[in-house]
Amino acid sequence: MASNGLSLVRRAAEAVRRTPRWKKGLVFFAVGASTLTYACQDNRVLQICDGTGNKKKVVILGTGWAGASFLRNIDTSLYDVHVVSPRNYFTFTPLLPSVTCGTVEARSIVEPIRNIVRKRNGAFRFWEAECFKIDPTNKNVHCRSDVGTNINGNGEFVVDYDYLIVSVGARPNTFNTPGVTENCHFLKEVEDAQKIRKSVMKCFERAALPNLSEEERKKNLHFVVIGGGPTGVEFAAELHDFVNEDLAKLYPDVKKYVNISVIEAGGHILTMFDKRITQFAEEKFKRDGIDLKTNFKVVKVSDKDITMTNPATGEVAVPYGMAVWSTGIGTRPIIMDFMKQVGQGNRRVLATDEWLRVQGCEDVYALGDCATIAQRKVMEDVAAIFRVADQDNSGTLTVKKIKDVLGDIYERYPQVELYLKSNQMKDFHDLLKDSDGSSKELKELDIEQFKKALAQVDSQVKMLPATAQVAAQEGSYLADCFNRMKTCEEYPEGPIRIRGAGRHRFKPFRYRHLGQFAPLGGEQTAYQLPGDWVHVGHSTQWLWYSVYASKQFSWRTKMLVVSDWGRRFIFGRDSSSI
Ligand code: FAD
Ligand code: MG
Repeated sequence: MASNGLSLVRRAAEAVRRTPRWKKGLVFFAVGASTLTYACQDNRVLQICDGTGNKKKVVILGTGWAGASFLRNIDTSLYDVHVVSPRNYFTFTPLLPSVTCGTVEARSIVEPIRNIVRKRNGAFRFWEAECFKIDPTNKNVHCRSDVGTNINGNGEFVVDYDYLIVSVGARPNTFNTPGVTENCHFLKEVEDAQKIRKSVMKCFERAALPNLSEEERKKNLHFVVIGGGPTGVEFAAELHDFVNEDLAKLYPDVKKYVNISVIEAGGHILTMFDKRITQFAEEKFKRDGIDLKTNFKVVKVSDKDITMTNPATGEVAVPYGMAVWSTGIGTRPIIMDFMKQVGQGNRRVLATDEWLRVQGCEDVYALGDCATIAQRKVMEDVAAIFRVADQDNSGTLTVKKIKDVLGDIYERYPQVELYLKSNQMKDFHDLLKDSDGSSKELKELDIEQFKKALAQVDSQVKMLPATAQVAAQEGSYLADCFNRMKTCEEYPEGPIRIRGAGRHRFKPFRYRHLGQFAPLGGEQTAYQLPGDWVHVGHSTQWLWYSVYASKQFSWRTKMLVVSDWGRRFIFGRDSSSI
């Protein structure tokens, strides 16, 4: 037996000696990789083989707008960075509707996450897995990969953290409407867009088959979009262009049966935009022959028809070929479970403070669509603000005393400045004058007068929208805070603490709105800038092209997107059903 074993070793050594050098490298690589895989098969080992020891470990959940933006900006020489996400790429979601009709290819709008960090030095690990439980008590996250790599073969592993960045986004919201999950498409991921494109082509091919009644052809070519928000509207517009510019030439016999409907429960579409844009979009859709059904609420979807109600018509059922459900977003189950653990079980959305720290636990930050900032109310803090400003405890505030803390108040409570602006007030003193009703400048205020002056400012507290712009800014803000953590601990740069002592380490997060686009098809895009500036037309379409091309993460995707647009103008969109 022993001599057998010995000869085996000798033969193996001989084989290694005779093997060319590059093959040896390969063997070593394979052995190394399998050892690492073996070592990581056990959760305990995973946590040991992970870290580099002296650096704090930051775990990021998700590679969307928020997670990728944090990852792009975090200094990986300061932290041991680990990323867990079920997809190993970032998706440029504003161009997803363009993928549904082949205007842009799927690979042109995705960026491999490893590419984002490759160019930078420092530790970084990525696991393609889904986190299914956050455990803030033991400071770890439970994850599951599609591949059964551990002893139990269930693909589960645990990653511990010093800081956790939760950026898992949201899920489509069906409002528990029966049949939606089974019969409708969603438009959230690249795969969704690809499925929609395939389904559109299948509908056309089905409608073109022989021996079909007119009714059946009409049914197959009835495309329904449920939800008149930006995504639904943009998809309807893209589809209309695709049908009229490309498919009409390829399917001349069935073109006349095409019908695109947009169903909206409210009175108007694009309600988050200025009224002028809403009106323009509604009129354009009417001209284009898109059937806009406002005040219709979908109550059931079967594989054959969509049932909706309207106060005037009651319940109606319409047959359809393909439906896209785009009525907003909901909270992911993992976040709901986490909210219960941190005492936020009665809320609908995970709340953070203005520094993006999850309320109710330590060292966990949440950003993007999975969370919302619960802006602190002035009236909840008014007595404490008074106390902080009244440094000599005289019981009254003078103009000078208020001036000393005004900068901090503005920084801590952005609603104060918003209130002044919306009421055309020049500065804080106008607010004080106004509260007295006497139009005279107040020299001294007691607590009651102070409360009266500030009574209305909280009406200006605004929830930030669930957009890529917000998520990306939150990601880069938080990474910047992390990068300056040490300096800011020594030299805090935030406003004075109202309830505690000293200053906050960082300035609170402030969103800068850069305007928003709403592509409406036919080379027309609406653009709304902060303030009252609205523009719709072809020139805005070119602005949309250039902004979206420039916002791509890499030169590779910039080039691909631009070449896709060029190809579309020359050769048209791809109409194969692959
Ligand atoms: P996401 O970008 O959704 O990323 C979430 C990440 O978490 C993903 O990588 C996901 O795989 C991962 N994940 C999910 N579950 C888990 C888990 N359990 N564990 C670990 N990882 C997980 N916004 C704009 O500002 N302008 C636009 O023009 C615009 N157009 C849009 C068009 C479409 C079709 C869609 C769907 C959205 C659009 N948005 C737009 C909104 C924008 O995409 C979102 O607000 C943004 O993606 C939010 O970023 P996020 O990082 O929070 O979430
Ligand atoms: Mg948010």
